[in-house]
Amino acid sequence: MNNSIINFPLPANEPVKAYMPGSPERVALEKELERQSKLVVEIPIIIGGKEIRTGDMGEVTCPHDHQHVIARYHKVGKKEVEMAIDAAMKAWKEWSCTPWTTRAAIVMKMAELLATKYRPIMNAATMLGQSKNFFQAEIDSACETIDFFRYNVHYASKIYAMQPKDGVAQLNHTEYRPLEGFILAVTPFNFTSIASNLCMTPVLMGNVALWKPSTTALLSNYYLMQLYKEAGLPDGVINFLPGSGALIGEVATESKYFSGIHFTGSTATFKSLWKQASMNVDKYISYPRLVGETGGKDFIFVHPSADPKAVATAAFCGAYEFQGQKCSAASRMYIPKSLWAGVLEDMKAMAAEVKMGDVMDPSNFINAVIDKASFDKAKSYIDFAREAKDAEVVMGGNCDCSKGWFVEPTIIETSNPHFKSMEEEIFAPVLTVYPYDDEKWEEVVKECDATSPYGLTGAVFGRDRMAVEKITDALRYTAGNFYINDKPTGAVVGMQPFGGARASGTNDKAGGEFNLIRWIIPRVIKETLVSPTDYRYTYMK
Ligand code: NAD
Repeated sequence: MNNSIINFPLPANEPVKAYMPGSPERVALEKELERQSKLVVEIPIIIGGKEIRTGDMGEVTCPHDHQHVIARYHKVGKKEVEMAIDAAMKAWKEWSCTPWTTRAAIVMKMAELLATKYRPIMNAATMLGQSKNFFQAEIDSACETIDFFRYNVHYASKIYAMQPKDGVAQLNHTEYRPLEGFILAVTPFNFTSIASNLCMTPVLMGNVALWKPSTTALLSNYYLMQLYKEAGLPDGVINFLPGSGALIGEVATESKYFSGIHFTGSTATFKSLWKQASMNVDKYISYPRLVGETGGKDFIFVHPSADPKAVATAAFCGAYEFQGQKCSAASRMYIPKSLWAGVLEDMKAMAAEVKMGDVMDPSNFINAVIDKASFDKAKSYIDFAREAKDAEVVMGGNCDCSKGWFVEPTIIETSNPHFKSMEEEIFAPVLTVYPYDDEKWEEVVKECDATSPYGLTGAVFGRDRMAVEKITDALRYTAGNFYINDKPTGAVVGMQPFGGARASGTNDKAGGEFNLIRWIIPRVIKETLVSPTDYRYTYMK
């Protein structure tokens, strides 16, 4: 038995590769894109390490070329979900008792495999399946995924080292047990790193998982399963269940072994899973842990003292990178009237410069939104604004679905701080702007706080530091990740642990200790070195 105390020091963040023409990473990625774009991968269900094919098939297409099928997948039925619960609970017996350093070693190997052999594979799959450009894929499916692996191991080592003090003639320690059951990980389409992290954080802490991947991110998610296996993750620790979320959620939350949900996606879906868990609470061995990061209506609040060039750049990148489909994407902006004309002009100049199209062409800054439902939703909000009396589409607004699901970077300007698209999440490259009278900024800050039910990210711009302080205080509950003079996107593991409250989630901060702590149930053990043999108090003797 290895009895070493192994150190896992704070890691460095994985460097973002530049993909300059002719660089080794660019050559490798282009070759892999070429290879994957000629394949139609058959994606099985994976339960207890075994591939299962139900023959009930679905298709995965490229969002920027919706006639291009890149994968076909087998859908689970009720039987397969039940099999997955059995397989997970079988794997739990060994995995929950495996030394944590062995689990950590497997996770560290995942990071190394992804930094090397799997880097082009994961990036190409994320580009083709989720329509990300070179840069957006690299920061997600390579760097952030690697960072989650390495940082979580470091944070786990800190948690295990947290021990109570000893008393006289006694030894005290805390054993950090995994939960007594399985975790249901339900993952979104928009980040490969989130898909990986929602399974791997509980698994690192000794738990087993049923993984319900998003059907629009299946290609990259399937390659993650291959990476896990190659890194040495035992069969059955993660069971891969493509198919209907509603079905999987229903069967999983009825099991007595259901011990938690690790979810990222829309507010409505998380609420429905929460309700199902509540309805079944009498069936469970323990109270389940419900951890969810959900929707957002992320804002930029501009004070009259702000630098307009910085505002225009932040609004453009914050609202339009990855087609506005980052949960943190800027989607509403409050700006003084004195600054708006200049900022709009700068944003229009940027929009005129950027190209939109296929991910294979690296000169495209904007690619497609994920699917038809997303395209239709974005278009309906733009159409609504076109018809509205209190709003106007002042930039972009064109939508073209002839080849892919393309929505131009769009600005809706409104005179109504409660206009529909100031309040509701769209999840597309649509920014709604409310220009206000400069002297009313303190009133408008209150509107910003009260306008939307969400509380995920927000940013304030201003050179008057005292005013910025006032705004930061007034907006205390509007965001779990708050930025000063920066765009509200781009959280980095180890630097800005991510998550929001209100209708945006349970704020358990992916990429930090808070999240890892949700996946353990501590047992405190007191050992008395010499046990008392007399019941009387000292003064009675
Ligand atoms: P979604 O809610 O449509 O889907 C998320 C997952 O839930 C998918 O795997 C889906 O198949 C599954 N699902 C759908 N209906 C279900 C049901 N009834 N029961 C069980 N599972 C079900 O979300 P999405 O479109 O994949 O992602 C976009 C949403 O995710 C946006 O609202 C965005 O704000 C949010 N998001 C939030 C964060 C964050 O950190 N707060 C991060 C990324 C995305």
